[in-house]
Amino acid sequence: MDATGTDGLSRTDAVERDCLFCRIARREVHADVLFEDDRVLAFRDINPQAPVHVLVIPKRHIGSLADLTGSDEDLMGHTFVVASSLASELGVTDGFRVVGNCGEKAGQSVFHIHIHLLGGRRFGWPPG
Ligand code: AMP
Repeated sequence: MDATGTDGLSRTDAVERDCLFCRIARREVHADVLFEDDRVLAFRDINPQAPVHVLVIPKRHIGSLADLTGSDEDLMGHTFVVASSLASELGVTDGFRVVGNCGEKAGQSVFHIHIHLLGGRRFGWPPG
């Protein structure tokens, strides 16, 4: 059990209340949702970096890839399978990229774990 703040919420509850992607998963913030089930949500990135740019998130709040534990294996496996299915549905299986930025230094700006599905153009390597 973590500490309770002056608002009566635990630190974890407060993080989930304020987290942008938790708010999208609760449909408090609008997003262009392409897929949803009980565990995962997929929606178009608001600032697309390719003709297809979709974010796939577990609905449960996990801060980043660095926070994963063995108990997340099924959930993250499912998240990748959803990304693969969407790549097929969106017609980019001839070449797409899945990206997970972990930590501010690697470009993570939203601290709710997500994978970027990018497709519809040619990609360079190494990434910037
Ligand atoms: P990252 O920088 O890897 O953490 O990725 C976060 C992504 O979330 C960025 O590509 C943003 O463009 C995207 N993003 C931020 N706010 C929203 C939003 N309200 N709806 C959809 N995508 C968003």
